[in-house]
Amino acid sequence: MNLTLATDDSGGPEIFASLQGEGPSAGTPVAFVRLSRCNLACVWCDTAYTWRFEGDNRPHRDCVAFERRANQVTLSPQEAAAQIAALGQKRLVITGGEPLLQAGGLAEMLAHLHDVSVEIETNGTVAAPARLDIRVDQYNVSPKLSHSGNPAELALIPERLDAYAADPRAFFKFVIASPEDVAEVLTLQRRYRIKPSHIFLMAEGTTSAAQRERQAWLSALCLEHGFRMSDRLHIHLYGDTRGT
Ligand code: SF4
Repeated sequence: MNLTLATDDSGGPEIFASLQGEGPSAGTPVAFVRLSRCNLACVWCDTAYTWRFEGDNRPHRDCVAFERRANQVTLSPQEAAAQIAALGQKRLVITGGEPLLQAGGLAEMLAHLHDVSVEIETNGTVAAPARLDIRVDQYNVSPKLSHSGNPAELALIPERLDAYAADPRAFFKFVIASPEDVAEVLTLQRRYRIKPSHIFLMAEGTTSAAQRERQAWLSALCLEHGFRMSDRLHIHLYGDTRGT
């Protein structure tokens, strides 16, 4: 089962080495592979080139419709694994889009990769089948709150959130645009009994200035509720660019 990947600025597959910028592994040198396609449509999505193709009129703040052929590339699982292995990193971050939409191909890809720990970034609406789940060391689960523009019945699937909340490998990362968003996090934390130490709040924003401005009040909310705060290291280092 071939994989559909996002493209980098050269038009090649978005497979690259960088420092993980967010969540519990922030600062760790890793290989990244970015999958194309998503089942949600966040109005502030910073990787809309993975899903908002021409003809898709779901709202996005930039109103850009991406040409599908220029922004998707197909690789066999074996070829994707070879390109990842060539980066020589000990840890792999599988991201998107929503990578678990291609769980079968990912399981095949990982069968060709050995001695690599695996982190999957997901919006928390899709379950990994057992043949993939067995290879996963960490899930970074980012359920989408109402300010994302997604209907709750699509973005917050109770059985999925129950399962991730019970999984010690799962860390929750909530994108926060205003202080009021934290009330929704607290409701989800209580309902699914998520450990505060497994919750990261991360400011929405694709510039260092926006991150710093929101982190000023977000840090106080993390202190108040016992949550962790995630920076977006790659934004400070490289800006909002592909392949970083
Ligand atoms: S779930 Fe992630 S990839 Fe999908 S639209 Fe939202 S931010 Fe973008």
